[in-house]
Amino acid sequence: MAVRSDKFQRIEIVRRKDHSADLWSIRARAEERLGFKPGQYATLGVESEGKLIQRAYSIVSSPAEEELEFFFELVPQGELTPLLHELREGDTIWMRRQSRGLFTLDLASGHANHFLLCTVTGVAPYVSMARTFALGGEVPRGLRLVVIQAASRSWEFAYREELDELSQKFAWFRYIPSVSRPWEDSDWQGEVGRVEDIARKHFDALGLEPATTTAYLCGHPEMIEKCKGVFKRRGFSKEFVREEIYWVPAKPSRDEVTA
Ligand SMILES: Cc1cc2nc3c(=O)[nH]c(=O)nc-3n(C[C@H](O)[C@H](O)[C@H](O)COP(=O)(O)OP(=O)(O)OC[C@H]3O[C@@H](n4cnc5c(N)ncnc54)[C@H](O)[C@@H]3O)c2cc1C
Repeated sequence: MAVRSDKFQRIEIVRRKDHSADLWSIRARAEERLGFKPGQYATLGVESEGKLIQRAYSIVSSPAEEELEFFFELVPQGELTPLLHELREGDTIWMRRQSRGLFTLDLASGHANHFLLCTVTGVAPYVSMARTFALGGEVPRGLRLVVIQAASRSWEFAYREELDELSQKFAWFRYIPSVSRPWEDSDWQGEVGRVEDIARKHFDALGLEPATTTAYLCGHPEMIEKCKGVFKRRGFSKEFVREEIYWVPAKPSRDEVTA
């Protein structure tokens, strides 16, 4: 099949890093620079059996970087991620020439606090936002970005080292990783619990009031639903709770429902 070159370009994987058996990130070089804002996503595709299988992926890198970066989770029963998982340095992926998405920092709200919550790969847009400021982007006066990330086990925090470093270096940044299955990660010394528990715990300590805070939720659909409830009870209006849902859970089959 011919992939339309007016809509797609090839990106070449120049570096691949495996974080665990089912989590990896890549750095890639595009033929033509992709314009995007931190928080937006690219559409990546691989040809298989005569068709192009495409999905959305948040861009991890900052627009200030030469290369693009993505962070993937393997969905073994999925259509695209098993194909992406096979690719190595030197291989290419199709990418739509246009980035998309509205999940960007809302600096126009006038809020100083941006409370960024995520599950595993949902950290991608937040890394892009933080890197952009760290690489010299203008940091608005009083800005505070707080990233809370939950994962089952600590080795799923692929960007922990980088985000910890940013936390130490910049007063405007704070990173709080939390493990939800500490019994599978006995060396973990940090926070324990799901995103919504940690969010509740830190609300007051961080002074995150609805009048001064915009919340962002990215990744697992169940986490997003639960956190929306937490923010609603806390008095946040819908306008200031942004969401990027990574997938829609499959409906259980009739057999599963009746079993
Ligand atoms: C705006 C946006 C940005 C995204 N950014 C990223 C990103 O940075 N990194 C990333 O890995 N993914 C990201 N995703 C998800 C990505 O688009 C794909 O849905 C995902 O990679 C699975 O694709 P697949 O073809 O392998 O599975 P599919 O064939 O699409 O799905 C198979 C089944 O698995 C379910 N499913 C899909 N993903 C998961 C999952 N992670 N865990 C459990 N079940 C799942 C689906 O509901 C479906 O029932 C993003 C999605 C959106 C909408």
